[in-house]
Amino acid sequence: MANSRFEYVKQFEQIDHLLPNTWIVVRIDGRGFTKLCAKYNFEKPNDRRALDLMNAAAKAVVSEIHDITIAYGVSDEFSFVFHKSSALFERRSSKIVSTIVSTFTAYYIHLWATYFPDTPLSPPLPSFDGRAVCYPNVQNLRDYMSWRQADCHINNLYNTTFWSLVQIGGVNAKDAEKLLSGTLAADKNEMLFSRFHINYNNEPEIFKKGSVVYRDYELVEPGTHDVATAVDQLGEPVQQSKTQEDNIKKRRAKARVLVDHVDIIKDDFWERRPWLLSNKPGAIPKET
Ligand code: ATP
Ligand code: ATP
Ligand code: MG
Ligand code: MG
Repeated sequence: MANSRFEYVKQFEQIDHLLPNTWIVVRIDGRGFTKLCAKYNFEKPNDRRALDLMNAAAKAVVSEIHDITIAYGVSDEFSFVFHKSSALFERRSSKIVSTIVSTFTAYYIHLWATYFPDTPLSPPLPSFDGRAVCYPNVQNLRDYMSWRQADCHINNLYNTTFWSLVQIGGVNAKDAEKLLSGTLAADKNEMLFSRFHINYNNEPEIFKKGSVVYRDYELVEPGTHDVATAVDQLGEPVQQSKTQEDNIKKRRAKARVLVDHVDIIKDDFWERRPWLLSNKPGAIPKET
C-alpha cells in the first residue's frame, strides 16, 4: 500500500509493551470522588448504591474482557488482574489501560440511573484514571490483592468510627479526628461498642471486605491443586491448539460472573478456585 509522506510520524510512537510473563494489574480510581460524593449526597461512610454501581460496572468489564481473571474493588477504585500469559493488545500498556478505563467509565455512566434514579448526572461527569503494574510471581500478586483488602479494612474501621462519632455522637469532625488519632483497631472496636452499641463484626461484608469479581466454576477441595507453584514455574505460556482455545472460550462465556464479598488474603479463597491462577476454566456448576 502506498504510504503518504506524512507516514514517518508513526515512528514517534513509543513502545510500551508490559513485561512478558508477569501478572498485569490495572487499577482505576475515581477522579475527585470526594467532591462527587458531596455533590450527589452519598451516604457516609458507605453509600451502598454507589458501591453497587461500581460493582455493576466492574462486572460488565470482566464479562466483556475475557482476559481478566479477577477484579477487586473498594471505595472509588477497582483493580483488574490479567493472567501472566495474557497477550491482549500484545500487552501494550496504553491500549490495555485505556480500554479498561473507558469501558468502566462508559458502564458507570450508562448504569448510573439504575442506582440513582432520582439524581440525574450533570457535568463534570464521573471519570477515572488508570495505571498498569506488573507483578512477577503469584506471591507478589496475592500480596497486592491482600494490600488492597487490608486497606479496605483499615479505612472502613476508621470511617465507621469517625462517622458514628459525628452522626450519632454529635461530635464535630475536628474533635472526632483528634479522638481517633493514634488509636489501634481494638480501641476503635471498643469505642464503637461502648459508645454506640455497634459490633463492628456485624457490619455488612461489602463494607468490611470490599468486592471481588470473577468467573464462577465449581469449587474444589483445598489442598488438592497446587496451582501457584506450577504457574510460577511456567516460562512461556502453553500454546493451545485452535480447538482447545475455542473450548476454553466457550466455557468462559458460559461461566457466570460473580460479585462476592469474601476474604482474599487467606489461602483458602485461592485454593478453592484454582482457575484464578491457572487460567484454565473449571467445571460449570450444575443448575440447582
Ligand atoms: P483523586 O482524584 O486523587 O482520586 P478523590 O477525591 O477521588 O481524589 P480518593 O482518595 O480516591 O480521593 O478517595 C475517594 C473518596 O470517595 C473517599 O473519601 C471515599 O470515602 C469516598 N467514597 C468513594 N466511594 C464511596 C461510597 N460508596 N460511599 C461513600 N463515600 C465514598
Ligand atoms: P483498535 O481497537 O486497534 O484501535 P480499530 O478497528 O478501532 O482497532 P483504528 O486503527 O483505530 O482501528 O481504525 C479505525 C477505523 O475506523 C479505520 O478503518 C477508519 O477508517 C474507520 N473510521 C474512523 N472514523 C470513521 C468515520 N467517522 N467514518 C468512517 N470510518 C471511520
Ligand atoms: Mg479517587
Ligand atoms: Mg480512591
